[in-house]
Amino acid sequence: MHIETRLVQIGVGKEKTTGAVSFPIYHATAYRHPALGESTGFDYTRTANPTRSVLEEAIADLESGDGGFACSSGMAAIQTILGLFSYGDHLVVSLDLYGGTYRLFEQVLKRYGITTTYVDMCNPKLVEEAIKPETKALFVETPTNPLMQITDLSTIVSIAKKHNVLSIIDNTFMTPYYQRPLELGADLVFHSATKYLAGHNDVLAGLIVTKGAELTEKIRFLHNSIGAVLGPQDCWLIMRGLKTLALRMDRHQANAYKVVSFLQNHEAVSEVFYPGLPTHLGYDVQTRQASGYSGMVSFRIRDKEDVAVFLKSLNIISYAESLGGVESLCTYPSTQTHADIPVEVREYVGVCDRLLRLSVGIEHPKDLIADLEQALDRCLTKEECLR
Ligand SMILES: *Cc1c(COP(=O)(O)O)cnc(C)c1O
Repeated sequence: MHIETRLVQIGVGKEKTTGAVSFPIYHATAYRHPALGESTGFDYTRTANPTRSVLEEAIADLESGDGGFACSSGMAAIQTILGLFSYGDHLVVSLDLYGGTYRLFEQVLKRYGITTTYVDMCNPKLVEEAIKPETKALFVETPTNPLMQITDLSTIVSIAKKHNVLSIIDNTFMTPYYQRPLELGADLVFHSATKYLAGHNDVLAGLIVTKGAELTEKIRFLHNSIGAVLGPQDCWLIMRGLKTLALRMDRHQANAYKVVSFLQNHEAVSEVFYPGLPTHLGYDVQTRQASGYSGMVSFRIRDKEDVAVFLKSLNIISYAESLGGVESLCTYPSTQTHADIPVEVREYVGVCDRLLRLSVGIEHPKDLIADLEQALDRCLTKEECLR
């Protein structure tokens, strides 16, 4: 069955007693046992919840994995995954990385004796060189946030297999609609489901998908032991969002292309980063390993002084920190998502004070472009500066 159909059909036919098309929200935390030693399959909601199970089966199916696990946030999903590692273990991590993931590694995991080396994953030689005897995993974000650099997943998987370490992929920006790393041989995929999967800027969630029985059982154990699980109401919201994922992604991407070609031709913009541009460094790899380019676009404003004018002038596009929702958002990584990354590291990676990130929503593209145009024009005329 095609992914569009599988998305829409999530939960349909699963509620046998009433035939409810929309799967119900089971708030119960406790489940009556029929008899000693018997269970309905549900005992206590941290271990399993009927609503959560439907979502977990759905994401496992969408990502072509063996186990799905819903967590209370993307960070909770990462923390659950990192429960696989112990004191003394080492991970090789994408250099350009979501700021919260970097903060977790640097300010939390380090205290537990788990260390990391950050490398440019576009360069396989650097990845191999960073692997030490105590390395246990390659932890990859592609496209990277916010610079949209593309990592060749097949190369990463073959390096991981050669060195007998896990490959862990953050698939938040692409979603299984465009990219399925487990089909390319990765061991584990996770999402901040807060973003495209939920899609409406109204629910915080994380999802993990595992490949293989052993890894699935390990994550199942950690998911229940750590307990950062997703509540049933939020599971339902994610399922509701997933039903329209295909439509939304198509529109996000179509709008992104239009916004990109507008930005490329505006005088106040110096660079545009979008993996769907044939001139983008990662275009060929992206085209090979994914079926689309999503709706995330970054760009540099020519003059740093204009960032404030630009953000203040936006009317339809919200200056806000998140992505992947139907509403267009613009983020300023250096003070928002990447504020906890030391300025030297940030600048070295390319997340400078002139960089802005757009999550292109599903509004009419002409309205989005008109909004960008009037805000960028103000940068040129310097009028309306900091009302
Ligand atoms: C938002 C985000 C996260 C963290 O997820 P939360 O749901 O905010 O906890 C991790 N990775 C990427 C790429 C993200 O965009």
